[in-house]
Amino acid sequence: MSDIDISQSPFPASPVVPELFDGSKVISFRCHKDIKCFNACCSNIDISLTPYDIIRLKNRLGMNSDEFLLNYSFPYEMEREGMAGVKFKPVENGTACQFMVDEGCSVYEDRPTACRYYPVGLVSQRKQDEYVDRTAFAVVKEPHCMGHLEDRKLTIDEYRQEQGLEEYDKYGHGWRQLILKKKSTGPAVGKPSKRSLQLFFMACYDIDRFRLFINSDGFKSSFDVSEEEYATFEKDDVALLEFSYRFLKQVLFAEETIAMRDGALDARIGRTDKSLEELQAERERKGGDAPDIEPVDIA
Ligand code: SF4
Ligand code: SF4
Repeated sequence: MSDIDISQSPFPASPVVPELFDGSKVISFRCHKDIKCFNACCSNIDISLTPYDIIRLKNRLGMNSDEFLLNYSFPYEMEREGMAGVKFKPVENGTACQFMVDEGCSVYEDRPTACRYYPVGLVSQRKQDEYVDRTAFAVVKEPHCMGHLEDRKLTIDEYRQEQGLEEYDKYGHGWRQLILKKKSTGPAVGKPSKRSLQLFFMACYDIDRFRLFINSDGFKSSFDVSEEEYATFEKDDVALLEFSYRFLKQVLFAEETIAMRDGALDARIGRTDKSLEELQAERERKGGDAPDIEPVDIA
């Protein structure tokens, strides 16, 4: 990355080089049940999920995060040799969203960030070695979407508020920060180990498994987390998610975000291996059929 303003392009009208805006940009858009293209966008999906999206959906469906991941998502590589992301798995042998029904979206109150934003796209940027994220927006105009022809004008900020995005952006922020930081630091911090990338996946997307992980003896003997915090994490997925972001800053970037117990540094690799064995045993006791867990070092 450089100091060049990436919103300036020699091809401002090109569909492959999106123009970037701030929240004051006025758009003309309305989506409603009587529009000709109703459900067209949900019939052919390519939707990435944030960690907070997964929490909202798995709780709505009354299932654990691993059950949700297996049934409704598939992993993909967000960047070469980098962190994994998760996308919605469409219906079997088709392209439609599994939650699409004739009346529209069957999980509307808990629909993911990308569905709320459409036709606006959120673009997060960070310059190399900077600690400040910059947010910009792009407007996607696909030929099938008639909403752009509707006579309703509002700013992108008003649209975000209408779509309930402030909460979604707030709890997605830590995840975006991790990804941006990984991209902006590049090789300076070294390539994350396969094990730390596995931890990234678990802590971001499989929050119920992460809860078991932090309750293992190995984790508890390494990290100094209070009983009050544990009590909160037991019942509050969002608080646990914010803790997972702190934990990952320590794992991926060696930031001291969670206090370690005396002597834990010397023994941490062995203890973490043991904690994952305990986690696997716990899952087997519960009859889980999730894939094997490899030991993960937290260095
Ligand atoms: S979650 Fe709802 S809004 Fe999003 S693609 Fe599926 S049906 Fe459409
Ligand atoms: S107006 Fe656009 S967002 Fe709304 S249903 Fe049609 S294609 Fe989807």
